[in-house]
Amino acid sequence: MPSSVYFIPAAADEGPEVLSRKTRDIYLKTGLNDELGKRDFVALKIHFGEKHNTGYIKPAWLKSLIGEVRTRTPLAFLSDSNTLYIGQRSNSVEHIRLAWSHGFTPDAVDVPVIIADGLIGRDAREGKGEHGRIAAPKIASAFLHSDALICLSHATGHVQTGLGGALKNMGMGCASRAGKLDQHSVSHPRVTPKACRNCGLCSDYCPAGAIVQAEGHVRIDDAACLGCGECLVVCKFGAIKLRWDEDARRIQEKVAEYAHYVQAHFKGKTAFLNFLIKITKDCDCMAKDDPRIVPDIGLLASRDPVAVDAATAALVVGRAKGKDIWRAGYDIDWSAQLRHGERIGLGSMTYDLIELPG
Ligand code: SF4
Ligand code: SF4
Repeated sequence: MPSSVYFIPAAADEGPEVLSRKTRDIYLKTGLNDELGKRDFVALKIHFGEKHNTGYIKPAWLKSLIGEVRTRTPLAFLSDSNTLYIGQRSNSVEHIRLAWSHGFTPDAVDVPVIIADGLIGRDAREGKGEHGRIAAPKIASAFLHSDALICLSHATGHVQTGLGGALKNMGMGCASRAGKLDQHSVSHPRVTPKACRNCGLCSDYCPAGAIVQAEGHVRIDDAACLGCGECLVVCKFGAIKLRWDEDARRIQEKVAEYAHYVQAHFKGKTAFLNFLIKITKDCDCMAKDDPRIVPDIGLLASRDPVAVDAATAALVVGRAKGKDIWRAGYDIDWSAQLRHGERIGLGSMTYDLIELPG
């Protein structure tokens, strides 16, 4: 049976008030708000954007949605977990300061920002995986102490999964640092010696000290590499590449299994909003002003994370006149996460798109 996915056309230049109203309208269509209990902890899972990133979901767009949630419960909060890589979001103090600097202040959003895996990313609980790729999912505790999840995802390309949407936001984003490592660990990139200029930048960024000097170029020590993907992005000469599409498939399947574990915890009290606004080649972990790869499309919402991502992918390809621009970014078959998600019962790739008036 197809899942329902709601769609409202929208663009950043409509301004924050219109986007806030549209975000509320599409959220209410999911029906989750009516199911919230009066003392429910509601985690609004978001990515606050790395320092200098400009594509992240803006706090002003969430004002009316948060207002609706607060009519049901005072216990809502905005949340993300700390990152695996070293940056402005790898501990709670700097992470919250970064969120403030991007406008997620109590005055602006009327809810606190809580980093779900604690001060240094070690507040996590371990569960039992049931689908083959993940034996023991490690999830940031604040998510597992919550009663409902509203997953707010900026649709972007991604260096390791091709597409980053609801599955990525829930599966990778709700994992603790150890859980992120769990998901990344098979995906080790390779240096092409001929293309390497031996500038050393990748080794400055590598959180694991896994980039070592070879003759006239660097190489990656597989035993030390965490598979975080930082070096793929920082090399300006295209000398570092993902090794096999197989790796990308495995990481996507792990993401889907993590997402399934989180989804199961909430027993259906979840909603997924994808923002197809300023869609970029790279995710919001990138500390840069990435340009749009297609014009803005709008907002999607569903109770089904697989369906909302499937609709996201299709709308973007449609807007790019049929060109698979997700695949064009990093030559990754991004659909592996959706297919595995469907296989393990996380959701359906078949959906009815229901367009709401703008
Ligand atoms: S950043 Fe690129 S060019 Fe520089 S050392 Fe690393 S692989 Fe070589
Ligand atoms: S070598 Fe690259 S992928 Fe591996 S840990 Fe270092 S930065 Fe991350």
